[in-house]
Amino acid sequence: MPYHCDLSPGQKIYLDNPGSITLITLASAGAGQQQQSNTQVHTGPWTEIPQIIRVDNGALLRCVTAQGTFFWQIQGMQIGVASATAWDTNQATPMQVTEVGPSPIASMPPMPPMPPMAPMQMGDMQMSLNPMTLRMGKMTLGLNTPTVNNQKFCTQCGAAIAQGDRFCGSCGYQLP
Ligand SMILES: [Zn+2]
Repeated sequence: MPYHCDLSPGQKIYLDNPGSITLITLASAGAGQQQQSNTQVHTGPWTEIPQIIRVDNGALLRCVTAQGTFFWQIQGMQIGVASATAWDTNQATPMQVTEVGPSPIASMPPMPPMPPMAPMQMGDMQMSLNPMTLRMGKMTLGLNTPTVNNQKFCTQCGAAIAQGDRFCGSCGYQLP
């Protein structure tokens, strides 16, 4: 589960742990420019929520994993390995590390595939495509029959429309 933390009003840090890798992304948004830097370290899976503390010259990051405890120092856009002795929670302010929820886009279910086009049946009216026929009761209209050669139908609702109409008079659909 990815985490993020606001290091400063213009700088965010994102932490993720895909597989056994700790992925650190620094993103800063300055005036009119965006910067991003990534660091990937093979750390093993996290066993604790990563922690960040603010220090004089930036921030320190600590990840506890099955393979041990890892420390990094963040200065500006630089991510460097820090020593364990730098981690002094008595003299530093722990920062809020927030779990990143699934984004609205990612949580949307994929579009279901379009069902195959089947003849539509409404009461005693049946419409099928290919060939385009409209059957109402005992009457069948088809595009191949001479009587409807010049007659156009709304592709949305099937209502008859006059030649040159830009919108369907029945449903308002914009005609192609
Ligand atoms: Zn229509």
